Amino acid sequence: MEKYYQYGEVSLTVVKRLNKKKVFLLLVIVLLLLLLLLLFVSNINRKMADIQEESELAELEDTNETLITEENIEETIPKLPILTQLGRENMQNIYKSNEKIAYITFDDGPSSNITPQILNILDQYKIKATFFVLGCNVVRYPNIVKQEYESGHYIANHGYSHAYDSVYSSAQSVLDEYVRTQQSIRDAIGIQEYCCHLFRFPGGTGGTKYRKVKNEAKQLLSDNDVLYIDWNALTNDSVGKPTEESIINDLISTVGTKNSVVILMHDNASKQLTANMLPKVLDYLIEQGYSFKNFYDVIM
Ligand SMILES: [Zn+2]
Repeated sequence: MEKYYQYGEVSLTVVKRLNKKKVFLLLVIVLLLLLLLLLFVSNINRKMADIQEESELAELEDTNETLITEENIEETIPKLPILTQLGRENMQNIYKSNEKIAYITFDDGPSSNITPQILNILDQYKIKATFFVLGCNVVRYPNIVKQEYESGHYIANHGYSHAYDSVYSSAQSVLDEYVRTQQSIRDAIGIQEYCCHLFRFPGGTGGTKYRKVKNEAKQLLSDNDVLYIDWNALTNDSVGKPTEESIINDLISTVGTKNSVVILMHDNASKQLTANMLPKVLDYLIEQGYSFKNFYDVIM
């Protein structure tokens, strides 16, 4: 019994010692775990703070982006041209300027293949041009006209059919072509109040064949608050068989030393050369110190 007791005492002491060790170990483990937990929690907190900061930054960036976009939209908000006395005078004096100003104009469009290329190039150069659209093409590609308009280019009127004999059968016929095209522009851009007040006679106002009708039409258009404009420089991109050289040479010779140039080009479907050469045309004008305007700067 004693032995057992002794053994029991020994074993109790052992157990007690063991327990002390165990308790010590357990405490150490618990402390370690607590330490780990603390580290973990502080790490999480830090990460949460980082995430919050990031999202706040992103939010700020978003706001900035929104602001920039709104600014851009404001900058290119298409305007409704209003014909004032000042606008009429500006048109009369269009070729008189102390500064070098170039008005880039495209006739006979829009086309589905050339006009988008031209719009891209103008966008790259941040230049606003004027498109003298043909009604018969506006109804085919209304979305392109809308894109031109919403990009801040001036949508002007070049009549509906471009068929000389029909357009110039009478002054009234010229006005009818103008009105029909105006309606197609309004439908394309979705703004029924739009009036460009600006016509370019198909083939220009020159020439002898339709002189009488053209002169009568000038008056009739004017009575209806419609001005007209020809050009005083051109690349001859729709005459004969133009080449890269002829485009640039004709531009240089017709621009000459003029301060104010209204440059005639075309964006109908066959004018790939015009699209190809447009960067060189613009580079030349920039080199020569021209700044660019469209008819929003004339008819305000
Ligand atoms: Zn034309």
